[in-house]
Amino acid sequence: MAPALAWQELAQGVFVLPWEPFRLNVGLVLGQERAILIDTGASLDAGREIVKLAKSLTELPLGAVNSHDHFDHCFGNGALDAEVIWSHRLCAEHLRWDGEEQQREVISQLRSTDPETAEQVAASTIVSPGCLIDDEVDLDLGERLVTLIHPGRGHTDNDVVAWVAGERILFAGDLVEEGAPPSFEDSFPLEWPDSLAPLLALDPDKVVPGHGAVVDAAFMRRQQVDLQQLADLARKGFRNSQRPAEFDVDTAFPGRPAQTAIRRAYSQLTAASTGAWVERQPG
Ligand SMILES: [Zn+2]
Ligand SMILES: [Zn+2]
Repeated sequence: MAPALAWQELAQGVFVLPWEPFRLNVGLVLGQERAILIDTGASLDAGREIVKLAKSLTELPLGAVNSHDHFDHCFGNGALDAEVIWSHRLCAEHLRWDGEEQQREVISQLRSTDPETAEQVAASTIVSPGCLIDDEVDLDLGERLVTLIHPGRGHTDNDVVAWVAGERILFAGDLVEEGAPPSFEDSFPLEWPDSLAPLLALDPDKVVPGHGAVVDAAFMRRQQVDLQQLADLARKGFRNSQRPAEFDVDTAFPGRPAQTAIRRAYSQLTAASTGAWVERQPG
């Protein structure tokens, strides 16, 4: 396994662990009575190692939250009991119904580029969280509150952030991305900027993205502006019947991610204009 970097203490009892592969940010928040991990890594092996590293810092009972259903954030869940893992209701559903399909896709994608991780993903049992969030829940860790918030759809339909109000630290999951463009494959590009608005209103001092370096509210605000511009261009292109492939991609994001975002936006706009979610009878 690629070596992990060490825990970095962002504030007293609030840690981030940059984890390879994928430069994932694993969070750890300690209270007086309990501790919680934010994300569990891409495989059971990773999850076990992350739990071991957490236990090197604390003997408190340990739970976790999954920021969303992408494998790099939750395939390590098997290192803990489902009953102590939180996620959005849809994250748990996606993992239960589609987790093995995601696992197969990831294995085939990684097999040539990172065979070791592919093998670890293959050896992981997918564990669907047992504690479900719809909108928001306060977790009392003992002398410390962590609020888990689903601010709306964005990177996926099940993003959850962890807000440590006492220290003004936001674990944002992949709703905020540093060092690479945001990932749009399962995204809701038209809603994403609006979902960042309530998080900006929290006025965080530190924002821990799902991947990359710890940033601040100004970085998140810039990403919101870029996402808003993309959403506006997509709406305009759709109105003008501009094909996504011909789209004049004049956005803050590189061509390929921007194209993916525009395709996602178009399919959502098409669904909205035709009611395509409802199956229609021919004729
Ligand atoms: Zn993701
Ligand atoms: Zn991710």
